[in-house]
Amino acid sequence: MKGCKRLYSARAIAARVKKLGKAISADYAGKDPLFVCVLKGACIFFSDLVRAVSLPVQLDFVQAASYGGGTVSSGEVRIVKDVECSVAGRHVLLVEDIVDTGRTLARLQELFKARGARSVQICALLDKPSRRAAGGVRAAYCGFTVEDRFVVGYGLDLDEKYRNLPYIGELPPQGEEAWQ
Ligand code: 5GP
Repeated sequence: MKGCKRLYSARAIAARVKKLGKAISADYAGKDPLFVCVLKGACIFFSDLVRAVSLPVQLDFVQAASYGGGTVSSGEVRIVKDVECSVAGRHVLLVEDIVDTGRTLARLQELFKARGARSVQICALLDKPSRRAAGGVRAAYCGFTVEDRFVVGYGLDLDEKYRNLPYIGELPPQGEEAWQ
């Protein structure tokens, strides 16, 4: 895409996902884990990650949104789509595209713990630690650490566009550019 600065190529992402899958396979062996994809941004990462895990795992999906419109979130998180299976007694791995303030994952972690999950860990493709809010979270597994910049591709969007870019890139300040 013209104007999009490539940060991580498809090849670099694939190599990192493979390593994450190996680490997760070792840590969750014998635990019958439940992997929960945080929609929509993590959908592509999730699909690749679960296939890099050499264990039988159960999959489910959750979608969260911040209250309030516009570009500034109120910080309150609501569940738009809940998981279908019971998390009680389960080892849950939340799979997210990017940890920014960490509020979304803090809310999901709290919710699943309150429902009796045995453990709730986080696997994030990207982490922006400089943006973490008080009460934010820590990812047990992380693909790449990024600076405070807006990234798109490999599931991440800008107004629902660019999710299907095979790489992770940074948009120029003006935003949209034509595909080439
Ligand atoms: P948090 O609750 O951690 O502040 O919000 C995380 C969500 O904000 C992510 O799941 C993602 O949807 C969105 N987000 C945060 N930073 C970025 C970014 O750089 N690019 C995109 N496309 N989304 C982001």
